[in-house]
Amino acid sequence: MASVYDLDFAELATHLGGQPRYRVDQVWRGLWDEGRDLADITTVPKALRSQLVEDFPSALEVANDVTSDRGATRKWVFRLHDGATIETVVMLYADRVTVCVSSQAGCAMNCSFCATGQAGFTRQLSVGEVVEQVMFAARAAAPRRLTNVVFMGMGEPLANYPVTVGVVRRLHDYRKMSARHLTVSTVGVAPAIERLADEGLSLTLAVSLHAANDETRNELVPLNRRYPLERLYVACERWLEVTSRRVSFEWALIDGVNDTDQALRELAQYAGDLRAHVNLIPLNPTPGYLVRGSTPERVRAFRDGLEALGVNVTVRNTRGRSIDAACGQLAAVTNGHRRAVTVRSR
Ligand code: SAH
Repeated sequence: MASVYDLDFAELATHLGGQPRYRVDQVWRGLWDEGRDLADITTVPKALRSQLVEDFPSALEVANDVTSDRGATRKWVFRLHDGATIETVVMLYADRVTVCVSSQAGCAMNCSFCATGQAGFTRQLSVGEVVEQVMFAARAAAPRRLTNVVFMGMGEPLANYPVTVGVVRRLHDYRKMSARHLTVSTVGVAPAIERLADEGLSLTLAVSLHAANDETRNELVPLNRRYPLERLYVACERWLEVTSRRVSFEWALIDGVNDTDQALRELAQYAGDLRAHVNLIPLNPTPGYLVRGSTPERVRAFRDGLEALGVNVTVRNTRGRSIDAACGQLAAVTNGHRRAVTVRSR
Protein backbone atom coordinates (compact mmCIF):
# COMPACT_ATOMS: atom_id res chain seq x y z
CA MET A 1 0.00 0.00 0.00
CA ALA A 2 1.61 3.24 -1.12
CA SER A 3 1.96 6.34 0.99
CA VAL A 4 1.63 9.70 -0.73
CA TYR A 5 5.21 10.28 0.44
CA ASP A 6 6.40 7.42 -1.78
CA LEU A 7 5.67 9.61 -4.81
CA ASP A 8 8.03 12.02 -6.48
CA PHE A 9 6.67 15.14 -8.18
CA ALA A 10 6.14 13.49 -11.57
CA GLU A 11 4.31 10.57 -9.99
CA LEU A 12 2.07 12.91 -8.04
CA ALA A 13 1.32 14.84 -11.25
CA THR A 14 0.45 11.59 -13.01
CA HIS A 15 -1.77 10.54 -10.16
CA LEU A 16 -3.56 13.87 -10.30
CA GLY A 17 -4.06 13.26 -14.03
CA GLY A 18 -6.52 15.91 -15.18
CA GLN A 19 -5.52 18.60 -12.65
CA PRO A 20 -3.73 21.78 -13.73
CA ARG A 21 -0.08 22.15 -12.81
CA TYR A 22 -0.71 24.74 -10.09
CA ARG A 23 -2.89 22.22 -8.26
CA VAL A 24 -0.06 19.70 -8.29
CA ASP A 25 2.19 22.44 -6.91
CA GLN A 26 -0.29 23.20 -4.15
CA VAL A 27 -0.52 19.58 -3.06
CA TRP A 28 3.26 19.19 -3.25
CA ARG A 29 3.86 22.31 -1.15
CA GLY A 30 1.26 21.24 1.37
CA LEU A 31 2.95 17.86 1.72
CA TRP A 32 6.63 18.76 1.68
CA ASP A 33 7.04 22.43 2.63
CA GLU A 34 4.23 22.56 5.13
CA GLY A 35 4.15 18.89 6.15
CA ARG A 36 0.37 18.85 6.26
CA ASP A 37 -1.97 15.94 6.46
CA LEU A 38 -3.68 15.52 3.08
CA ALA A 39 -6.97 16.41 4.76
CA ASP A 40 -5.51 19.76 5.84
CA ILE A 41 -4.20 20.98 2.51
CA THR A 42 -6.89 23.60 2.40
CA THR A 43 -5.48 25.38 -0.65
CA VAL A 44 -7.09 22.72 -2.86
CA PRO A 45 -10.84 22.09 -3.24
CA LYS A 46 -12.48 19.77 -0.75
CA ALA A 47 -13.43 17.16 -3.36
CA LEU A 48 -9.83 16.78 -4.46
CA ARG A 49 -8.64 16.58 -0.88
CA SER A 50 -11.16 13.88 -0.08
CA GLN A 51 -10.13 11.93 -3.14
CA LEU A 52 -6.48 12.10 -2.10
CA VAL A 53 -7.28 11.05 1.46
CA GLU A 54 -9.12 8.05 0.05
CA ASP A 55 -6.32 7.16 -2.38
CA PHE A 56 -3.56 7.53 0.21
CA PRO A 57 -4.70 6.67 3.71
CA SER A 58 -2.13 7.53 6.37
CA ALA A 59 0.46 4.78 6.81
CA LEU A 60 0.59 5.35 10.57
CA GLU A 61 -2.12 4.65 13.09
CA VAL A 62 -1.30 5.82 16.60
CA ALA A 63 -1.35 2.83 18.96
CA ASN A 64 0.28 4.62 21.87
CA ASP A 65 1.49 8.11 22.67
CA VAL A 66 3.61 8.88 25.73
CA THR A 67 5.44 11.96 26.91
CA SER A 68 8.34 12.36 29.34
CA ASP A 69 11.12 14.76 30.34
CA ARG A 70 8.43 17.37 31.12
CA GLY A 71 7.09 17.32 27.61
CA ALA A 72 10.48 17.49 25.90
CA THR A 73 10.38 13.85 24.74
CA ARG A 74 7.41 12.18 23.13
CA LYS A 75 7.16 8.66 21.78
CA TRP A 76 4.57 7.10 19.54
CA VAL A 77 3.93 3.48 18.80
CA PHE A 78 2.45 3.30 15.31
CA ARG A 79 0.53 0.40 13.87
CA LEU A 80 1.08 -0.03 10.14
CA HIS A 81 -1.51 -1.24 7.64
CA ASP A 82 -0.55 -4.91 8.14
CA GLY A 83 -0.48 -4.71 11.93
CA ALA A 84 3.32 -4.42 12.28
CA THR A 85 4.32 -1.86 14.90
CA ILE A 86 7.15 0.65 14.99
CA GLU A 87 8.19 3.48 17.27
CA THR A 88 9.12 7.08 16.67
CA VAL A 89 10.51 9.54 19.21
CA VAL A 90 10.71 13.31 19.00
CA MET A 91 13.05 15.26 21.27
CA LEU A 92 12.93 19.00 21.82
CA TYR A 93 16.23 20.66 22.72
CA ALA A 94 17.05 24.33 23.18
CA ASP A 95 18.79 24.55 19.83
CA ARG A 96 17.22 21.78 17.75
CA VAL A 97 14.32 19.42 17.35
CA THR A 98 15.25 15.83 16.55
CA VAL A 99 13.11 12.94 15.45
CA CYS A 100 14.37 9.39 15.88
CA VAL A 101 12.82 7.19 13.17
CA SER A 102 12.49 3.45 12.66
CA SER A 103 13.80 2.05 9.39
CA GLN A 104 12.48 -1.49 9.88
CA ALA A 105 9.76 -3.09 11.98
CA GLY A 106 11.98 -4.98 14.39
CA CYS A 107 15.60 -5.74 13.59
CA ALA A 108 17.59 -8.81 12.54
CA MET A 109 20.97 -7.70 13.94
CA ASN A 110 20.41 -9.27 17.32
CA CYS A 111 22.66 -7.01 19.40
CA SER A 112 22.57 -8.53 22.87
CA PHE A 113 21.81 -5.36 24.85
CA CYS A 114 19.19 -3.88 22.49
CA ALA A 115 15.48 -4.41 23.10
CA THR A 116 14.64 -4.28 19.40
CA GLY A 117 17.26 -6.93 18.69
CA GLN A 118 15.82 -9.08 21.45
CA ALA A 119 12.38 -8.96 19.80
CA GLY A 120 13.48 -9.95 16.28
CA PHE A 121 12.68 -8.82 12.75
CA THR A 122 9.24 -8.29 11.27
CA ARG A 123 9.69 -6.48 7.94
CA GLN A 124 11.26 -3.65 5.98
CA LEU A 125 9.60 -0.24 5.99
CA SER A 126 8.91 1.68 2.79
CA VAL A 127 10.17 5.19 2.01
CA GLY A 128 6.69 6.58 2.68
CA GLU A 129 6.44 4.84 6.04
CA VAL A 130 9.69 6.44 7.18
CA VAL A 131 8.92 9.91 5.77
CA GLU A 132 5.49 9.84 7.41
CA GLN A 133 7.20 9.38 10.79
CA VAL A 134 9.21 12.54 10.13
CA MET A 135 6.17 14.53 9.04
CA PHE A 136 4.09 13.31 11.96
CA ALA A 137 6.80 14.42 14.39
CA ALA A 138 7.19 17.74 12.58
CA ARG A 139 3.49 18.47 13.04
CA ALA A 140 3.63 17.51 16.70
CA ALA A 141 6.66 19.74 17.29
CA ALA A 142 5.09 22.83 15.72
CA PRO A 143 5.57 25.74 16.14
CA ARG A 144 9.16 24.57 16.63
CA ARG A 145 10.75 23.52 13.35
CA LEU A 146 12.00 19.98 13.08
CA THR A 147 15.72 20.27 12.30
CA ASN A 148 17.30 16.82 12.71
CA VAL A 149 16.49 13.26 11.77
CA VAL A 150 18.36 10.33 13.27
CA PHE A 151 17.90 6.75 12.03
CA MET A 152 18.26 5.38 15.54
CA GLY A 153 14.83 3.92 16.11
CA MET A 154 14.02 0.31 15.36
CA GLY A 155 15.94 -1.44 12.66
CA GLU A 156 19.26 -1.37 10.86
CA PRO A 157 19.03 1.37 8.21
CA LEU A 158 21.81 -0.08 6.08
CA ALA A 159 19.97 -3.40 5.93
CA ASN A 160 17.17 -1.42 4.26
CA TYR A 161 19.58 0.47 2.04
CA PRO A 162 17.46 1.75 -0.87
CA VAL A 163 14.79 3.01 1.50
CA THR A 164 17.29 4.77 3.77
CA VAL A 165 18.94 6.52 0.83
CA GLY A 166 15.53 7.31 -0.68
CA VAL A 167 14.37 8.94 2.55
CA VAL A 168 17.57 10.95 2.94
CA ARG A 169 17.34 12.21 -0.65
CA ARG A 170 13.72 13.21 -0.29
CA LEU A 171 14.24 15.00 3.02
CA HIS A 172 17.16 16.85 1.50
CA ASP A 173 15.76 17.60 -1.95
CA TYR A 174 12.06 18.05 -1.18
CA ARG A 175 11.97 19.03 2.47
CA LYS A 176 15.17 21.09 2.14
CA MET A 177 16.74 19.64 5.27
CA SER A 178 20.47 19.98 5.65
CA ALA A 179 22.11 16.61 4.99
CA ARG A 180 24.42 17.17 7.94
CA HIS A 181 21.38 17.13 10.15
CA LEU A 182 20.44 13.68 8.90
CA THR A 183 22.23 10.91 10.79
CA VAL A 184 22.29 7.29 9.71
CA SER A 185 23.31 4.98 12.53
CA THR A 186 24.59 1.51 11.69
CA VAL A 187 25.91 -1.58 13.43
CA GLY A 188 28.67 -1.50 10.82
CA VAL A 189 27.59 -3.06 7.53
CA ALA A 190 30.98 -2.34 5.95
CA PRO A 191 30.14 -2.68 2.21
CA ALA A 192 27.00 -0.57 2.67
CA ILE A 193 29.01 2.17 4.39
CA GLU A 194 31.32 2.26 1.38
CA ARG A 195 28.40 2.39 -1.01
CA LEU A 196 26.81 5.16 1.03
CA ALA A 197 30.04 7.16 0.90
CA ASP A 198 29.72 7.19 -2.89
CA GLU A 199 26.16 8.55 -2.91
CA GLY A 200 27.38 12.13 -2.72
CA LEU A 201 25.30 12.99 0.34
CA SER A 202 26.88 15.00 3.17
CA LEU A 203 25.00 13.16 5.82
CA THR A 204 26.30 12.20 9.24
CA LEU A 205 27.36 8.60 9.76
CA ALA A 206 27.21 7.06 13.22
CA VAL A 207 28.68 3.61 13.78
CA SER A 208 27.59 1.63 16.82
CA LEU A 209 31.02 0.44 17.87
CA HIS A 210 30.61 -0.48 21.56
CA ALA A 211 33.85 -2.50 21.60
CA ALA A 212 37.19 -2.13 19.87
CA ASN A 213 38.34 -5.72 20.20
CA ASP A 214 36.71 -8.48 18.15
CA GLU A 215 36.08 -10.84 21.01
CA THR A 216 33.89 -8.41 22.95
CA ARG A 217 32.32 -6.93 19.84
CA ASN A 218 31.32 -10.38 18.57
CA GLU A 219 29.30 -10.78 21.76
CA LEU A 220 27.66 -7.35 21.72
CA VAL A 221 27.16 -6.86 17.99
CA PRO A 222 26.99 -10.25 16.25
CA LEU A 223 27.41 -8.69 12.79
CA ASN A 224 31.03 -8.18 13.83
CA ARG A 225 31.66 -11.84 12.99
CA ARG A 226 30.87 -11.01 9.39
CA TYR A 227 32.54 -7.59 9.28
CA PRO A 228 35.20 -7.58 11.99
CA LEU A 229 36.87 -4.43 13.26
CA GLU A 230 39.61 -4.42 10.66
CA ARG A 231 37.08 -4.59 7.84
CA LEU A 232 34.92 -1.94 9.49
CA TYR A 233 37.97 0.27 9.82
CA VAL A 234 38.57 0.15 6.07
CA ALA A 235 34.97 1.24 5.47
CA CYS A 236 35.23 4.12 7.96
CA GLU A 237 38.49 5.24 6.43
CA ARG A 238 36.85 5.28 3.05
CA TRP A 239 33.92 7.26 4.44
CA LEU A 240 36.32 9.88 5.80
CA GLU A 241 38.29 10.02 2.57
CA VAL A 242 35.34 10.31 0.22
CA THR A 243 33.04 12.55 2.26
CA SER A 244 35.60 14.49 4.35
CA ARG A 245 33.23 13.97 7.24
CA ARG A 246 34.24 12.36 10.47
CA VAL A 247 32.53 9.22 11.59
CA SER A 248 30.82 9.26 14.94
CA PHE A 249 31.23 6.14 17.12
CA GLU A 250 28.50 5.21 19.54
CA TRP A 251 29.54 3.42 22.69
CA ALA A 252 26.97 2.29 25.25
CA LEU A 253 28.93 1.99 28.49
CA ILE A 254 28.40 -1.41 30.10
CA ASP A 255 29.69 -2.16 33.58
CA GLY A 256 32.82 -4.31 33.46
CA VAL A 257 32.35 -5.11 29.77
CA ASN A 258 33.49 -2.09 27.78
CA ASP A 259 34.20 0.53 30.44
CA THR A 260 37.57 -0.84 31.61
CA ASP A 261 40.91 0.90 31.21
CA GLN A 262 41.85 -1.59 28.53
CA ALA A 263 38.63 -0.91 26.61
CA LEU A 264 39.41 2.78 26.87
CA ARG A 265 42.85 2.34 25.33
CA GLU A 266 41.50 0.15 22.53
CA LEU A 267 38.82 2.69 21.71
CA ALA A 268 41.22 5.62 21.84
CA GLN A 269 43.47 3.93 19.34
CA TYR A 270 40.71 2.84 16.98
CA ALA A 271 38.94 6.22 17.07
CA GLY A 272 42.10 8.29 17.18
CA ASP A 273 43.51 6.96 13.95
CA LEU A 274 40.24 7.79 12.21
CA ARG A 275 39.86 11.14 13.96
CA ALA A 276 36.40 9.94 14.83
CA HIS A 277 34.03 11.52 17.28
CA VAL A 278 32.96 9.30 20.20
CA ASN A 279 29.48 9.50 21.63
CA LEU A 280 29.19 7.77 25.01
CA ILE A 281 25.71 6.54 25.87
CA PRO A 282 24.89 5.34 29.36
CA LEU A 283 23.46 1.83 28.75
CA ASN A 284 19.70 1.77 29.04
CA PRO A 285 18.29 -1.26 30.82
CA THR A 286 16.45 -3.85 28.69
CA PRO A 287 14.70 -7.00 29.89
CA GLY A 288 16.86 -9.44 27.94
CA TYR A 289 20.28 -8.16 29.02
CA LEU A 290 21.10 -8.28 32.66
CA VAL A 291 24.46 -6.53 32.80
CA ARG A 292 24.25 -3.03 34.24
CA GLY A 293 25.22 0.24 32.70
CA SER A 294 28.36 1.94 34.04
CA THR A 295 27.99 4.21 37.05
CA PRO A 296 27.84 7.95 36.36
CA GLU A 297 31.30 8.29 37.94
CA ARG A 298 32.72 5.70 35.58
CA VAL A 299 31.06 7.40 32.60
CA ARG A 300 32.77 10.66 33.56
CA ALA A 301 36.12 9.01 34.15
CA PHE A 302 35.88 7.19 30.83
CA ARG A 303 35.13 10.44 29.06
CA ASP A 304 38.02 12.21 30.79
CA GLY A 305 40.36 9.34 29.95
CA LEU A 306 39.46 9.54 26.27
CA GLU A 307 39.89 13.30 26.27
CA ALA A 308 43.30 12.96 27.84
CA LEU A 309 44.25 10.69 24.94
CA GLY A 310 43.14 13.34 22.47
CA VAL A 311 39.81 11.81 21.46
CA ASN A 312 36.91 14.05 20.62
CA VAL A 313 34.16 12.80 22.94
CA THR A 314 30.70 13.69 24.22
CA VAL A 315 28.33 11.99 26.63
CA ARG A 316 24.83 11.65 25.26
CA ASN A 317 22.14 13.04 27.43
CA THR A 318 19.64 10.20 27.82
CA ARG A 319 16.07 11.03 26.96
CA GLY A 320 12.92 9.04 27.37
CA ARG A 321 14.13 6.39 29.82
CA SER A 322 11.01 6.57 31.92
CA ILE A 323 8.81 5.80 28.90
CA ASP A 324 11.09 3.11 27.47
CA ALA A 325 11.88 5.42 24.60
CA ALA A 326 15.62 5.62 25.10
CA CYS A 327 18.06 4.14 22.57
CA GLY A 328 17.66 0.41 22.42
CA GLN A 329 14.51 0.29 24.48
CA LEU A 330 12.06 0.80 21.69
CA ALA A 331 10.56 -2.65 21.61
CA ALA A 332 9.48 -2.67 25.21
CA VAL A 333 6.27 -2.83 27.16
CA THR A 334 3.42 -0.98 25.41
CA ASN A 335 0.33 -3.03 26.12
CA GLY A 336 -0.11 -5.63 23.42
CA HIS A 337 2.89 -4.25 21.65
CA ARG A 338 5.28 -7.03 22.45
CA ARG A 339 2.98 -9.49 20.72
CA ALA A 340 2.79 -7.25 17.66
CA VAL A 341 6.54 -6.90 17.40
CA THR A 342 7.27 -10.60 17.57
CA VAL A 343 8.29 -12.08 14.23
CA ARG A 344 5.40 -13.68 12.43
CA SER A 345 5.84 -16.39 9.89
CA ARG A 346 5.39 -15.00 6.42
N1 SAH B 1 20.70 -0.42 14.04
C1 SAH B 1 21.27 0.88 14.14
C2 SAH B 1 20.31 1.97 14.59
C3 SAH B 1 19.38 1.68 15.74
S1 SAH B 1 20.05 1.57 17.37
C4 SAH B 1 22.48 0.86 15.02
O1 SAH B 1 22.70 -0.14 15.69
O2 SAH B 1 23.25 1.81 15.03
C5 SAH B 1 20.54 3.21 17.82
C6 SAH B 1 21.64 3.25 18.87
O3 SAH B 1 21.18 2.80 20.15
C7 SAH B 1 22.81 2.34 18.51
O4 SAH B 1 24.03 2.98 18.77
C8 SAH B 1 22.62 1.20 19.49
O5 SAH B 1 23.79 0.47 19.70
C9 SAH B 1 22.13 1.93 20.72
N2 SAH B 1 21.54 1.06 21.71
C10 SAH B 1 20.87 -0.09 21.52
N3 SAH B 1 20.48 -0.62 22.68
C11 SAH B 1 20.89 0.22 23.65
C12 SAH B 1 20.77 0.23 25.06
N4 SAH B 1 20.12 -0.72 25.71
N5 SAH B 1 21.31 1.26 25.73
C13 SAH B 1 21.95 2.27 25.08
N6 SAH B 1 22.08 2.32 23.75
C14 SAH B 1 21.57 1.30 23.04
